[in-house]
Amino acid sequence: MAGPSKIASFRLPPLPTIGEVIKLYNLRAEKQLSQNFLLDMRLTDKIVRQAGSLRDAHVCEVGPGPGGLTRSILNAGAADLLVVEKDNRFIPGLKLLSEAAPGKLRVVHGNILTYRMDRGFPDVITKAWEDDPPDLHIIGNLPFSVSTPLIIKWLENISNRTGPFVYGRTRLTLTFQKEVAERLTASTASRQRSRLSIMAQYLCTVKSCFTIPGRAFIPKPEVDVGVVHFTPLAQPQIQQPFKLVEKVVRNVFQFRRKRCLKGIQMLFPEAQRPELAEVMMREADVDPTLRPTELSIPDFRALADAYSHLCSENQGLLTYDFREELRLKHLHRRPGSSSNGTQQPV
Ligand code: SAM
Repeated sequence: MAGPSKIASFRLPPLPTIGEVIKLYNLRAEKQLSQNFLLDMRLTDKIVRQAGSLRDAHVCEVGPGPGGLTRSILNAGAADLLVVEKDNRFIPGLKLLSEAAPGKLRVVHGNILTYRMDRGFPDVITKAWEDDPPDLHIIGNLPFSVSTPLIIKWLENISNRTGPFVYGRTRLTLTFQKEVAERLTASTASRQRSRLSIMAQYLCTVKSCFTIPGRAFIPKPEVDVGVVHFTPLAQPQIQQPFKLVEKVVRNVFQFRRKRCLKGIQMLFPEAQRPELAEVMMREADVDPTLRPTELSIPDFRALADAYSHLCSENQGLLTYDFREELRLKHLHRRPGSSSNGTQQPV
């Protein structure tokens, strides 16, 4: 009888190589869709290892394409892999892979930006938020034009515990353009510190894993690629609604090289600007001469809390947008415009 150590781990049977699959199904990469494929299994295995142990895990792979990363996830022992692919040309090749891994691979032809992942996995895998992360991982090598809006959407989902995070603190292992990966992980005072650094780091532990040179992809993209791992925090570092935090952070970073006070002032209507900005800085106890890049996450927490407090005392402040005020002013000043912004009769 086979002992526990002899229980064979799952390996895919011999299959055509990814290069052969691409030829077999005539899967030319679509440049306008930014399709760059990873054919080197050592690299796809390395990406998958960043997710941690996938033995018997549930996994969602986003944008599997010809299926290189998909094979590595299956070989790592995932019990249930759901792949979401937008381009129907890849579906037959993925179905072939699904036959080689019976009961393990579910293929969805869909768009990850609209796919309801909260319905994609069984409820039994759900863990309480404060508990360890659930046995569910998201892994993907997506086009850069998709991965950045997607991570912002998922960060909001983390804050609201919706989408892939109805199951708990689902971990993510994703690729980004190297510069975006650097922004996501940038620490206080670093040159790459930006809006994305704050939004990601107040909600997650963000780890930069490694860089893949552009030449590893076919066709070769213009840029190098960074692999980033996210684990949602049990206790977010800022306890305010996502949209409020986003507004404060966006305003602060709009004048990157100026003192942070300049961006903060723009949170307030012109008439009350100096006065309310001063109240906010005092209440937050943040040095107004610091540059946005020099502010720590606790500084942003204090700013978001102070702004939320001011919003509770000043009706309409939360929805105030200085750009809208500027737009209206501009409209009023235009020759031929009346003071209410409508056209003057000629
Ligand atoms: N993961 C494969 C690899 O590493 O070789 C393919 C990578 S390619 C950069 C990105 C893949 O994501 C393509 O197969 C593309 O069709 C797919 N894709 C692009 N946008 C998508 C979306 N919104 N939803 C699902 N898949 C998408």
